[in-house]
Amino acid sequence: MAELTIRQLIMQSITGSLCSSRQLAELVGVPERQVEDHLTHITKSVARDRTRRFVLEPSRCRDCAFVFRDRTRLTRPSRCPRCRSEAISPPRYGIELR
Ligand SMILES: [Zn+2]
Repeated sequence: MAELTIRQLIMQSITGSLCSSRQLAELVGVPERQVEDHLTHITKSVARDRTRRFVLEPSRCRDCAFVFRDRTRLTRPSRCPRCRSEAISPPRYGIELR
C-alpha cells in the first residue's frame, strides 16, 4: 500500500506547517502532479474530520502582490490576471489541529 504511505507522509509533513506541492514532491519522492492528487483526497478527508482543518495559503504574484483568493484548484496559476507577470508564488498547504 505505497499510496497510503505517501498520503500519510504528506499529511504528516503539512500538519502544523505549510508546504508547497514542489516541497512535498521533493520530501516524499513523487512527482508534483501526484502530490496534487493526494492533496485533493487529503482536503476531502480532513473536511470530514472535526479535529483538523485544512489550510490553503493562496498563490500570490511576486510583482504586484495580487492574491489568487478565489482559486479553488490546487495547482499553481501560470500568469497574473492583473499585471500578466509569470512570477507567481506557489500555493502552500497545511493541516491545523483544532
Ligand atoms: Zn501581478
